[in-house]
Amino acid sequence: MLANSSIQSMQTGFETLNLINPICQALHEEKYILPTPIQEQAIPYLVKGRDLLGCAQTGTGKTAAFALPILQWLEQDREAVSPKGVRSLILAPTRELAVQIGESFRVYGRHLRIKQAVIYGGVRPALQIRALSRGVDVLVATPGRLLDLLNQRQLRLDNVGVLVLDEADRMLDMGFLPDIKKICSAIPSSRQTMLFSATLPSEIVKLSRNFLSDPVKVTVNPPSSTVDKIEQKVLFVDRENKSDLLEFILEEDESIQRALVFTRTKHGANRIAKRLSKVKISTEAIHGNKSQSARLQALEKFRSGRVRVLVATDIASRGLDVDGITHVINYELPKEAESYVHRIGRTARAGTDGIALSLCDAGEKSYLRKIELEIRCSLNIDQNHPFHAQSIASKKTGVRKSGSKNFSDGRGRGSRNKSTARAEGKNKNFSFSRNRSPGKPVNGKKNIRNKRAS
Ligand code: AMP
Repeated sequence: MLANSSIQSMQTGFETLNLINPICQALHEEKYILPTPIQEQAIPYLVKGRDLLGCAQTGTGKTAAFALPILQWLEQDREAVSPKGVRSLILAPTRELAVQIGESFRVYGRHLRIKQAVIYGGVRPALQIRALSRGVDVLVATPGRLLDLLNQRQLRLDNVGVLVLDEADRMLDMGFLPDIKKICSAIPSSRQTMLFSATLPSEIVKLSRNFLSDPVKVTVNPPSSTVDKIEQKVLFVDRENKSDLLEFILEEDESIQRALVFTRTKHGANRIAKRLSKVKISTEAIHGNKSQSARLQALEKFRSGRVRVLVATDIASRGLDVDGITHVINYELPKEAESYVHRIGRTARAGTDGIALSLCDAGEKSYLRKIELEIRCSLNIDQNHPFHAQSIASKKTGVRKSGSKNFSDGRGRGSRNKSTARAEGKNKNFSFSRNRSPGKPVNGKKNIRNKRAS
């Protein structure tokens, strides 16, 4: 741990949130300059022990919003943790998200003496059991594995002082509600509870009534709104031309430095990854059928820039935190409109901007309509590609109010010969990019009140 005097002068913009110096120091080292809006609005309440209902998408800095107050509490309220005991518990829907949250705690808490563990399914539990045996200050877990180990008495939750439910809407979608209820019933009700969700459907509001006590409500984006720094476009294309269009986009637009491509199925993800690799576009696939180590390896290659494209299904990619994703490409539109919001939130993270392209075939027009209703605006149509299917574009959806047509030449082309289409496209100075400038987190408001279990 650093001596306080050596870090007294660090200016991070976080001092106004009353965070202790070792935490400010870690933020300074991470080059965080200002708190993001969710951090600015939530942290002052959380350090006072209030419950919180946070409506925020990933990419807004919500992990630090809950991690920093927890670390601060652990440091200020030091007490020995009992064997198999847990002082703070963070529940997350997927292994990837759990690992990322664990990593964030490690980074933000690097100048503190914090014992932490991350547990998730799909791997043998022996190492996790060993990590839990002496007790931990911070436990990040997926609900299924946590409940298994709880039932096996490998851990105790009777001393948990803070509980976080992260991506609660996703956990509900994945059927974790019964597990969450059992876990919560094993934790003292005097705990501090934080619930974060990208959207606030009625089930989440109900959940918050049951699990939170007089919560502060913080919304950094209206429910289901899309991050406004993302430029969104839809490209109408016949189903049989989709993979050609994807290949064309990735080959022609060099500004696509790091692209996340979403498919609906695992099989589809594998097929696309194989096809792109064949044409020398470095690609990995990530989905629930891959082993844990294969998933982490694929992520690492994507994160480090060794592969340019990561093809993913929804389940594998919720909450993925990879910096510098320039483009999200929906190879297939999601059936659930809310998934669209989650998907495109992988770009434009922490104040930068990004581009989201959605390839829409005739069968997906109804999904597009649902998405546009959800985000309350119509997507711009991009016709400036050689596979534009005018017949799909002109089929009515009923919500198109302001869909400006980008770069339109006004001609409908329908399905055409692929090589002619590609040749024409190559002559059009084709680009899905725009000038990119780094954004800055902005300030919000704050308030206080007191409560915490010890
Ligand atoms: P999250 O929404 O928690 O997944 O965070 C998204 C990304 O924002 C992560 O890469 C964080 O490292 C980064 N981040 C979080 N807070 C800040 C901040 N105040 N300034 C700059 N980057 C941040």
